[in-house]
Amino acid sequence: MERERIPAGTEVLPGVYRCNACANEHECREEGEKLPRCEVCDSISWRPLRLTKKQAGNELK
Ligand SMILES: [Zn+2]
Repeated sequence: MERERIPAGTEVLPGVYRCNACANEHECREEGEKLPRCEVCDSISWRPLRLTKKQAGNELK
């Protein structure tokens, strides 16, 4: 699977996202919610950890 990088401000699907810089996790609960800056390190780069919706069935790793 390709490794996705999602910048802060991007509208995302509901799910859990992990900061690429410090591994802080942020959960988006509503569709179309925008990713914030990381609360811990102020990074703007995230990647999806897992989606709330049951889609492909495979965890993103
Ligand atoms: Zn961070």
